[in-house]
Amino acid sequence: MRSTSSRHMPPGDAPDLFQNESLALEKARAIHSIIDADAAEYRQSLGELIDHFQRLMRETRRLIGRSDRAEREMQALAQQLAYRASHDALTGVLNRSAVIDRTTRILRTTSAVMIILDIDEFKRINDDYGHPTGDAVILGVVDCLRRIVGEQGFIGRVGGEEFTVLLPGHDPASGALLAERMREAISDSLVVAPVDRRITASFGASINEIGTGFDTAYGLADAALYRAKRGGRNRVEFADQ
Ligand code: GH3
Ligand code: MG
Ligand code: MG
Repeated sequence: MRSTSSRHMPPGDAPDLFQNESLALEKARAIHSIIDADAAEYRQSLGELIDHFQRLMRETRRLIGRSDRAEREMQALAQQLAYRASHDALTGVLNRSAVIDRTTRILRTTSAVMIILDIDEFKRINDDYGHPTGDAVILGVVDCLRRIVGEQGFIGRVGGEEFTVLLPGHDPASGALLAERMREAISDSLVVAPVDRRITASFGASINEIGTGFDTAYGLADAALYRAKRGGRNRVEFADQ
């Protein structure tokens, strides 16, 4: 944007951004009011107006470009903020509050299977191989979940190494099939160096009718998960409903 420093600015007053243009306009008006002014005078005044008009157009285009860029940057920032507020920083899946919001919203209009899974003996992985390896295991588990769930549901991280998978519209049979495939994908194929023992997770699931609240869906699945842990881990249990 052009500098206003060279423009006359009375102390305490706001700068007149169009001072040069106002002067040119005043001059053109004065000449315009002379009925029998000389052609050369008209021509010179018109020339000055053309110069100022062109400069105004140039600067207006630059300002519009700048404000468009600023608006795009603001939109990108707002999107980033919204993403960070609703996603887990380590894995990129939904965070706890987003899981609660999404589940509540979906269960208002459709039935859904809710699955909770928790990595088995995870403390020992942290203790034996260190926290960064524990993080790599968490990422590996989420990869397995993503591969199996695809577009069929929403994955969330509700605690340290505890995840939810919400499957809208699924019935008990298709929910059980997907849960079993997730369990298998982790226990049969997840390898994270230098962990040299089998990585497994336990699963609990609840079948939820339209109108079920988050706490009920989660509580039922959590009780089933507890049974899966007590039953020997690396298994899927469904809530008694
Ligand atoms: P269980 O089979 O009964 O689930 O046993 P567990 O050892 O997995 O027990 P629990 O689920 O209570 O363990 C949770 C552990 O997860 C404790 C905590 O130190 C660890 N943890 C939580 N968040 C993170 C994380 O972001 N990264 C890593 N590396 N560890 C985490
Ligand atoms: Mg665990
Ligand atoms: Mg846990």
